[in-house]
Amino acid sequence: MAWFRKPKTRLQAADRRDLPGDVWEKCPNCGEILYREKLKENWQVCPTCAHHLRLSASGYVALLTDEGSFREMDRELRSADPLQFVDLKPYRERLAAAERKSAHGEAAITGEGTLEGIPISLGVMDFSFIGGSMGSVVGEKLARAGLRALEKRTPLLIVSASGGARMMEGIFSLMQMAKTSAVLAQMNEEGLPYVSILTDPTTGGVTASYAMLGDVNVSEPGALIGFAGPRVIEQTIKQELPEGFQRAEFLLEHGMLDMITDRRAMKTELARVLRHMLGLPAVEDFAGAAEGSA
Ligand SMILES: [Zn+2]
Repeated sequence: MAWFRKPKTRLQAADRRDLPGDVWEKCPNCGEILYREKLKENWQVCPTCAHHLRLSASGYVALLTDEGSFREMDRELRSADPLQFVDLKPYRERLAAAERKSAHGEAAITGEGTLEGIPISLGVMDFSFIGGSMGSVVGEKLARAGLRALEKRTPLLIVSASGGARMMEGIFSLMQMAKTSAVLAQMNEEGLPYVSILTDPTTGGVTASYAMLGDVNVSEPGALIGFAGPRVIEQTIKQELPEGFQRAEFLLEHGMLDMITDRRAMKTELARVLRHMLGLPAVEDFAGAAEGSA
């Protein structure tokens, strides 16, 4: 009697073409083929070269807030179409299409939560929603996030990712620059910290307002940050632009940013900054690296 019987199954030829296309992703920087699940666990940072791929808005909420602490606010706000704007297609249709794809209905998620136990008001822009463009809803949501910070006396954090003001709302989108800046000025008067986190890309009217108004302006490595595009600038000043112009590292060197932080260390670094600004005691980490950081 055979104790062990080898099952006579035919070997199945592993056919890579059968793999679903969304299992692998190629790093745009080093070309390494990455397992998407691993990349997700690593907050969309390439484990080989540390290139920062785009992280979704809800990804940033998960990255920065303590598990289960985030409560989304003003989710129901929707853009009106005051100009009845039509470019390649009507703005209304564009909005409806973007809404169908998005879980949050607009280009920003706002709410409250805690970051390493520190209560915060948080706003995160969503680049996948019409290029993270700042329309009246984005401005209103972020301004309300600032007002909640004022009311509850908590710090405000805004993660920016944007192509700038939403041109389909014309002057109404530009007015958001003043509206958000006014709330930030109030926070400043009240001595409440506002930390701006700039991610790739942060441009146009967003850079020209709240993204650059942080008490501390933090960026991710390699992020494109600017106001006008390089070609427009070159044509205006009639000079060739230096290498790396409008990248986070260049801006840090020229005093436009306070720090560049790897996304994987972002939460810990922000907690350190917030504790310092709020006058809370520093938390010692295992290696004692927090020593002297207060
Ligand atoms: Zn890479």
